[in-house]
Amino acid sequence: METKTLKICPECGEPLIGRTDKKFCSDLCRNSHNNIQQSHTNKKLSITNSILKKNRQILERLIEQRSWKVSRDKLLQQGFSFYYFTSFQYDQEKSFCFYCYEYGYYALEGNCYKLMKIKKG
Ligand SMILES: [Zn+2]
Repeated sequence: METKTLKICPECGEPLIGRTDKKFCSDLCRNSHNNIQQSHTNKKLSITNSILKKNRQILERLIEQRSWKVSRDKLLQQGFSFYYFTSFQYDQEKSFCFYCYEYGYYALEGNCYKLMKIKKG
């Protein structure tokens, strides 16, 4: 026996009538649903962006102070988050080198990091 499930609009809960591929009851509901989804995405992106910006700022400040070698603790104390970076590279000498925009760092012995700045051009 075939059972037909009634589809409902995810925005207002009204049953969907008509085409079976219809997802929303109206353009209004579709737009309102998509706008909410978009604002959730924007919120997540802006949190990530602000952490990356802060990481970049910390690296920039240390490099401006000519602190090319810093301890992991010092970075953490300043609010650095090791989970966020924009890219990384692997090379045999430096092993993993992580970047926050134009600033990079890689691990040295003794829980320290060597900082660097990518030269433009
Ligand atoms: Zn609806």
